[in-house]
Amino acid sequence: MAVSKFHPVEALREAYDAGQRIFGESRVQELLDKKEFMPKDIEWHFIGHLQQNKVKYIVPFVSLIHGVDSPQLFREIDKQGRRFERRVPCLLQLHVAREESKFGFSPEDAQTFLQSEDWRGLSHVELRGIMCMASFTDDVNLIRREFTRAHDFFLWARQMCFSASPEFNICSWGMTHDYPLALESGSNMVRIGTQIFGEREY
Ligand SMILES: *Cc1c(COP(=O)(O)O)cnc(C)c1O
Repeated sequence: MAVSKFHPVEALREAYDAGQRIFGESRVQELLDKKEFMPKDIEWHFIGHLQQNKVKYIVPFVSLIHGVDSPQLFREIDKQGRRFERRVPCLLQLHVAREESKFGFSPEDAQTFLQSEDWRGLSHVELRGIMCMASFTDDVNLIRREFTRAHDFFLWARQMCFSASPEFNICSWGMTHDYPLALESGSNMVRIGTQIFGEREY
């Protein structure tokens, strides 16, 4: 998936012309603005920290919401999914990194949540898999351990909660600096920005 946040539509267009069809954005307004200017056959993924009051703007069309990081956010996505009569494809974000700043469920909380009545009541969320971000570090072994933790959780969830749901099959981890490690640790969807588009200007 090509992470196009902060890059102008000209850059997205160039990637599109080279064959790229999946783009990831991290801010709702930016995503809506770019969508207007880009062809209709693009799959738009949302990868940032999604605020509850913005869910309604992307639910009608979004192909995948990567970072669903709380039961409340799942409930809001479900509510908007009902309203727009759509099962919304989502990934549960796991917090496996050292950094406090990163969002997500702890593996323990995610286990509890996926076995709860609360979760079973969400008919308009389609859980497609797990997403995580590793610590930002050069410590290869630490990154590998964090990705492996996410992969172990994915395998547990697939067996215990989603054995009848073949669509639960996405492991989203790996960015420009750590995607080779991610691919060694079970990832089947890497989110690449800088390596495709160059440095971002904030
Ligand atoms: C920005 C971002 C990426 C891409 O990062 P690069 O280092 O530019 O490849 C991937 N995932 C998430 C969640 C991001 O916010």
